This record gives sequence, structure tokens and C-alpha cells, in this order.
Amino acid sequence: MQNHNDTRLLVIGGGPAGHSAATVAATIGAQVTVIEDKVIGGAAHLWDCIPSKAMVASSMRISAIRNAGRLGIDEVGPVHLDMGVLSAHLHSISSKIESSMVDLLDSQGVEMIRGHGRLTGLNTAVAETDDGDIEIEFDKVLLSTGSRPWVPDWATPDERIFTTREVYSLPELPEHVVVVGSGVTGVEMVHIFSSLGSKVTLLVSRHHVLPHRDAEVAMVLEDSFLERGVALLKGSRASGVERTAGGVVVHTEDGRSIEASHCLLAVGSAPNSENLGLETAGIETSRGYIPVNEYNVTNVAHIYAAGDVCGELPLSSVATMQGRKIARHLLGHDVAPLDYRKVAQAIFTEPEIASVGLEEVHAASEGRKVRITKVPLAANPRALIQGNAHGFVKVISDPATRIVLGGTVVGHHASELIAPIALAVTAHLRVDVLLETLMVHPSLVESIAEAAE
Ligand SMILES: Cc1cc2nc3c(=O)[nH]c(=O)nc-3n(C[C@H](O)[C@H](O)[C@H](O)COP(=O)(O)OP(=O)(O)OC[C@H]3O[C@@H](n4cnc5c(N)ncnc54)[C@H](O)[C@@H]3O)c2cc1C
Repeated sequence: MQNHNDTRLLVIGGGPAGHSAATVAATIGAQVTVIEDKVIGGAAHLWDCIPSKAMVASSMRISAIRNAGRLGIDEVGPVHLDMGVLSAHLHSISSKIESSMVDLLDSQGVEMIRGHGRLTGLNTAVAETDDGDIEIEFDKVLLSTGSRPWVPDWATPDERIFTTREVYSLPELPEHVVVVGSGVTGVEMVHIFSSLGSKVTLLVSRHHVLPHRDAEVAMVLEDSFLERGVALLKGSRASGVERTAGGVVVHTEDGRSIEASHCLLAVGSAPNSENLGLETAGIETSRGYIPVNEYNVTNVAHIYAAGDVCGELPLSSVATMQGRKIARHLLGHDVAPLDYRKVAQAIFTEPEIASVGLEEVHAASEGRKVRITKVPLAANPRALIQGNAHGFVKVISDPATRIVLGGTVVGHHASELIAPIALAVTAHLRVDVLLETLMVHPSLVESIAEAAE
């Protein structure tokens, strides 16, 4: 095996995948260079996870104020949102996170180059910087260039027709926004804008929002949207959007035209794989994504790819874990491949939706026999005390072995509550372990023990 200190690792793209690979590889002893064209932390910190969840936090605070009357708190008067202050808050969070990530790489001796990275051969690359090109030689390379929102050819983005990238710089709250796309990003944006006070129309191209999830989960979310006045247009697929004097008009394939002030496009993503020099190293792509094996190796043995550019499971948590595993793998350590079925995922709406492992909809489609136990949060004292009793906890286990196979939590703080179920799925624990764990009373997590009964 090559001495670690001799291995030169080049990372192109310093988002969650690239950053985690660089820090772990540098800790083990490799010589690491990261080329990043925007900010260390990537799209995840600049536009995606962090600013969107900071907006969710503002929207949650507004809803809590609006619903405070239920807990006996006097009317606090109309709530006003200052988009300028919110925007400045989001940008300050992103820059704090970026500087702590840069400091970490710096302290580990990682070389950081601000510029556009491109392969020029099997072991060579160039960083195109403002001060000219820098040639780099490497032994191994990780391509972790991420993705960007996909824009359909019938839309031309401007200040009123926008993707999630522009949301954080809006000068004012849209009066009426049509959200195109009812997947995870679309529903999170519906939640944000409807809580902040915009009128929202959601185009749902299938039978229900979140078409790949349990219908029961989607129904809880749809009810919550309807309660707050969101218009759901089912079976409606957008076919065009144009500017009008006062705003936009969105056209649908079934012949509707919806007038609004703004249109938000949340219809998927496209990989950042162009102008990366893939052809010079003979790297294959599929619809622009870079296919990899279970260790994130491309069709070229010393070239790795990770995160959204691979199109596997586009989550920051997944990209980070892939990066960590890649660093160890490329330095010759044994690593277990990532098991995508065990990834805990959350949708930050109100109520939140979190799941891990096998879902009921997938067990049914695989014809797999499972034991499903479910308790409503309406039976949980803490949920009732807090006035957030919408939702449920569901635990799925193997009827023969009683091993936990998966679970879903729909409710306040579901993204935190999923943790014990995720641990059980990862460690192959039996439902009895959840049942016998003495949880705090009163707490939301008690419902997990109860659902394990
Ligand atoms: C609105 C939204 C909210 C989200 N919220 C969550 C969430 O709450 N939780 C979660 O887990 N996931 C979330 N995601 C998904 C998450 O953001 C992505 O999965 C994650 O960013 C992928 O990380 P990455 O390292 O692959 O790429 P990125 O974060 O996209 O980073 C790639 C970096 O590479 C740079 N780059 C690209 N090409 C080059 C080049 N040639 N040279 C140099 N640099 C280059 C890019 O500028 C970028 O900085 C969200 C996504 C969206 C759209």
C-alpha cells in the first residue's frame, strides 16, 4: 500500500461531500487540495439546507405567535416580517458556517484554491482562478461538484419567476406565489411562504403531494396546507409561465391559467458535470450524472465521485457520509458501503415528516410481510400540552425476528424524534429495546416506545 503521506488527493467541489472527504483524508495523512468555485460548504450552505431551514425557523416562530392564543397568551397584534432582516440573518449564518469549515481545512493543512476545477488528463487538472491557471498533479481525485435547480425550457427566470436559489434575496414577501412541484423542496417552500403570510397555490401533478411517499403521510400534510388556506391544484402539470404587467401567469397542461405575483420552480435538479474535463479522463456519465460503484468509484479506478453529481440520494447527510467513506477507501482502509435504505430523512414542514428504513408503501410493493404499529400524537400528553398534536409515529418491524426495519414520524420535531428509530434500524435492534427504554415523561419520544408495543 502507498504511504498515506505520499497520496495526493485532489477534491473538485467543496460542498458536504468534498469537505468531509478532505478533512478525513487530511486527518489520516494525505496531501489534500480542494478547488472550489463559490464557497466552502457548497450549495448546501449557500442556498439549500441551511438558509431554507433558517427560513423554516422564522416561519415556525410566526406560526407559534399566531397560535399562541390556544395556550392562553393574549393577542400580540399583527406580525410583520422584514425580508431584509431575515435575508441578512440567513447570509450571516452561511458565512459563519463557511468560515468554520475553512478554518477546519486550514488547521489540517489542506490547500484551498478558489476557482473552477477541470480534469486535463488521468492524473492532472487545472484550477482556473482570477490570477490565472494553476496546474495540479494528483494520485486520486474526488469529483463532488453538486447540482443546481433544473429550469424547464418553458420558463425564463427573473425577479418574479425564480428557483430556490433566489428565494433568500427576495426584496419583499410575495403576495401570491404559485409553487410548481410538490416534492420535498416544493412542499417545504409552500410551508415557508404560507406561514410567512403569502397566498400560495401549489400545482400537484399527481394524486397527492410527495408522490413517492405513503399516501397517509401526504394526507396529513395536505390537511395542514388546506387549514392555512393553500390552494392545491391536483393533477395539474405546469406547461408555461410568463410575465404580466402585475406579476406572472402560470399555464397548465389541463388548460388552466393561474395569475399570481410570483412563480417558484421546484421541479428537480441538474448535475454540475459540464466543463469538468470528464472526457479527457474517459469518465462515463448517464443523463449528466456520474455513475459510481458501492465505494463511489467511477468507471476509472482512481477517480471517485460523490454527492448530488452522482444522483444517488440527494441529501447533504448522504454526501457527507460518502465523503468520509471515500477518504478512507482511497487511502486503502476497509470501509462498509453506505446502505441507502438506512438513511434518515426529514421534510421540514408543519408537521415535520421524518422516515428511515422501510416505508409501508415500499413493503406493500415488495409484497413483504411486516408488522406495523402506529400511535397518533393526539394521545401524547406533551404534544397536547404544546398544542401540536397533529401526526403519528409508526414503527415497522419483522414479525418473525421483531427487528426494527423502519419507521415514520409525522409531527412537531419529527426530524429529531426519528433518531431512536434510525439507531434501531442501523443497529438491527428488536422493537423490545425501544419498548424497554425508559423515556422521559411527558415527552414526544414516549410515543416511539408506545408504537413499539
Ligand atoms: C432547497 C433545498 C433544501 C435542501 N435541504 C436539505 C436538508 O435540509 N438536508 C439535507 O440533507 N439536504 C438538503 N438538500 C440537499 C443538499 O443541499 C444537497 O444534497 C447537498 O448540497 C449535496 O452536497 P454536494 O457536496 O454534492 O454538493 P454542493 O453542496 O452542491 O457543493 C458542490 C460545490 O462544488 C462547487 N463546484 C461545482 N463545479 C465546480 C468546479 N468545476 N470547480 C470548482 N467547484 C465547483 C459548487 O459551486 C459547490 O459549491 C436541500 C436541497 C435544496 C435544493
